[in-house]
Amino acid sequence: MNIAFIAHDEKKDEIVQFATAYEDLLKEHNLFSTGTTGTRIMEATSLKLHKYQSGPLGGDQQIGAMIAENKMDCVIFFKDPLTAQPHEPDISALIRLCDVYSIPLATNIATAEILLRGMQRGDFEWRELIKEKKKEDDSDEQEKA
Ligand code: PGA
Repeated sequence: MNIAFIAHDEKKDEIVQFATAYEDLLKEHNLFSTGTTGTRIMEATSLKLHKYQSGPLGGDQQIGAMIAENKMDCVIFFKDPLTAQPHEPDISALIRLCDVYSIPLATNIATAEILLRGMQRGDFEWRELIKEKKKEDDSDEQEKA
């Protein structure tokens, strides 16, 4: 599965604790993140993440682009509800795209745990079917072109 990690500054310690606790499970997957979140997780664990730009510099939008291409299977986004963010429009856009494409999104640690436990027991298999279908549709379109 492709999993994205994003955490606002006040939530970075929490996402590091979370990634550490689930390191064994997470190392079986392809991990992506916004810039600083990824750096913090990689410093604390042996996980390798593909880092995009920092959130306020476009990282949220880069992860959004993966969602729009149906390439992201799960988004773990520890939002800080108590601090105004300069890139609020990007945050709303990312959450909106998760809803457009029905991508499982956790915005706090309690939901994130439930998502990862679901992933562990195979609840994300439907994502493989969707990705297969998209590949078929894309190749049909290429043949027509
Ligand atoms: P960051 O971005 O991981 O680069 O700090 C997260 C955000 O604030 O959106």
